[in-house]
Amino acid sequence: MDLGLRGKMAVVTGGSSGIGLAAARVLLDEGMAVAICGRNAERLDAARQSLAPHGDVLAVQCDILEAGDVERLRRDVAGWQGRCDLLVNNAGQGRVSTFAETTDEAWSEELRLKFFSQIHTIRAFGPMLRQSGQGAIVAVNSLLAYQPEPHMVCTSAARAGVQNMLKSLAGEFAPDIRVNAVVVGLIESGQWERRFQAREDRGITRAEWLADLGREKNIPMKRLGRPEEVANAIAFLGSPASAFITGSQIEVSGGLSRHI
Ligand code: NDP
Repeated sequence: MDLGLRGKMAVVTGGSSGIGLAAARVLLDEGMAVAICGRNAERLDAARQSLAPHGDVLAVQCDILEAGDVERLRRDVAGWQGRCDLLVNNAGQGRVSTFAETTDEAWSEELRLKFFSQIHTIRAFGPMLRQSGQGAIVAVNSLLAYQPEPHMVCTSAARAGVQNMLKSLAGEFAPDIRVNAVVVGLIESGQWERRFQAREDRGITRAEWLADLGREKNIPMKRLGRPEEVANAIAFLGSPASAFITGSQIEVSGGLSRHI
């Protein structure tokens, strides 16, 4: 299927690792120019170098929680391609803590991360997306939005709130900009790599650790997802191939959800 993305431009937040990096690669292979951002300059540069053979890439150091950084990202993109057709709001991470462990500061930090990682970029790139004629926003969200976990209480609550906000935006921005989400389960990427590196059993290999995790979490597909598998869903939702889909989401979880 031709997704109709050739010659268009995408911004992928958190494009220096995991799902964002895979999304940038897939979108470049579809013929888009892609701007990525992240906070760590070294990781960002390594990502830019790995993506360069796939097409036109711009890498901008930017903390999406800082409105000034996001404005600079917008200016760089405007100066580089003068357009933005797709915004992939992917940057972020989860927080492991129960209600008893979560301080007021942690709640504020988590709510700020989940909401403002959407709000700042949507505000900055909204006008360019509107001008595109096929503007689309794809948020990378978590299945926790629908299936909360007590050990990730504030992440789960914040994720649900973001899904709610995206639904409002889909109504407000239609028909100019479509707003959709991918809701992911467990995907092999930076955050699981960090938990593997911090494992207690130092004798266990990465493959064994991941296989144990898949079993422990009862994933029907019996493994974690790969970042490319999320990236493909992002590309579809961000493309004219899904032109009549807005206010919706695709679950990429290997069948992990229990709701209908
Ligand atoms: P990674 O840790 O591999 O990548 C996260 C990316 O986001 C990095 O590029 C990181 O770069 C960037 N980032 C984080 N915070 C900021 C910030 N404030 N400003 C700019 N960039 C930032 O994680 P994943 O690929 O797994 O995660 C992608 C998204 O998917 C996240 O929102 C995550 O919460 C979500 N998700 C992932 C799941 C999984 O199982 N992998 C499960 C559920 C949700 P840098 O640190 O240099 O800023």
